[in-house]
Amino acid sequence: MILHLDADAFFASVEQAEDPSLKGKPMAVGGLRRGIIASASYPARQRGVYTPMPTVQALKVCPELIVIPGNFSKYRQYSDRIFGFAEEFTPWIERTSIDEAYLDLSGNRQMPPGQVARELKAKIVGELGVTVSLGAGSNKLVAQIASKLRKPDALVEVPAGSEREFLAELDCGWLPGVGTKLAERLRAVGLKRVRDIATAPVEALEAVAGRFAPQLQLYAHGIDARPLNLDPEDAKSYGMQETFDDNVTAPEPVLAVLRTMADELMSRVRRDSRAARTITVRLRYSDMSDASHAFTLPQPSDLETEIYPLLPGLLRRVWTRETSVRLVGLRLSHLSAPSVQAELDLDGRRSSKQREAARVLDDLRARSLPVMRGHSLRQL
Ligand SMILES: [Mg+2]
Repeated sequence: MILHLDADAFFASVEQAEDPSLKGKPMAVGGLRRGIIASASYPARQRGVYTPMPTVQALKVCPELIVIPGNFSKYRQYSDRIFGFAEEFTPWIERTSIDEAYLDLSGNRQMPPGQVARELKAKIVGELGVTVSLGAGSNKLVAQIASKLRKPDALVEVPAGSEREFLAELDCGWLPGVGTKLAERLRAVGLKRVRDIATAPVEALEAVAGRFAPQLQLYAHGIDARPLNLDPEDAKSYGMQETFDDNVTAPEPVLAVLRTMADELMSRVRRDSRAARTITVRLRYSDMSDASHAFTLPQPSDLETEIYPLLPGLLRRVWTRETSVRLVGLRLSHLSAPSVQAELDLDGRRSSKQREAARVLDDLRARSLPVMRGHSLRQL
């Protein structure tokens, strides 16, 4: 059984969770002036705001729209918390974006999928104040459509055996691989609904969809053999970046941000039982030019405390111009396989106080307790 999770108006919901005075109002996260809308609250959508729409245009269709600049490291933290809760129900999770994932529940025999979905929804809204929509079905296709059909705050279960019936009346544009153009061509030849595609002669479908036709017809029958992609190619590094509200001219606030990023990234590295060897600091100057510098450790590490001492030197090497800085990023790469990390643990060399502290912090985070190191507090 697959559960598809999709947060509702995610960035906008995070901002509303942090500032309840925004609730129920037309508001959006987006760039001001020449920017675009990245996420719009439901009241804003009702007034014609959609994504991606230029902010200028959004303010024309909805002059009372409250536009908030995005804070992506905050959204990443919420995202990690959401999927952290999901991991309490299954280790098999394919994250497909910052606010969407497939959960494979086949291994969770103690709890029926509907109950997992209800408990997960309650946990996320209770702890974080954001709502998600969930769809449960026998495969990715059905679960994903189920989660999106009745947003927001939806829970739709498709019982095994009823996939085809569930899809029949939907517009063909709901099927995976059917973009705007293909949907138009399908409708033009009378294949408007999923039911029409399921029952069309395959030659007729081929005339419109070409070699995709047989696959498309399987989808229309609610059949989808795509497995969960549990080891995505892009998991080859861990990175974060943050844009400052004001351009920064002194190193100390930048270092504070970098240390906090190191905490967050190393916590993810440990969660994935990995270790990283290369640390890259990246800057964007206020004139928009970029600079970066990397350092490779003699041995892989999964402890933030081992990279704190490297950060001032890295920052000096990268910040060489007398220009203020508007963005900073940290990336950990050159990852070792989980088995290598297990060996590092076994030799006892790292059973230090630092490791114990990291383990305690991870434990607290896993139980959704907001913990941070002292340097993060100073930054506030
Ligand atoms: Mg979403």
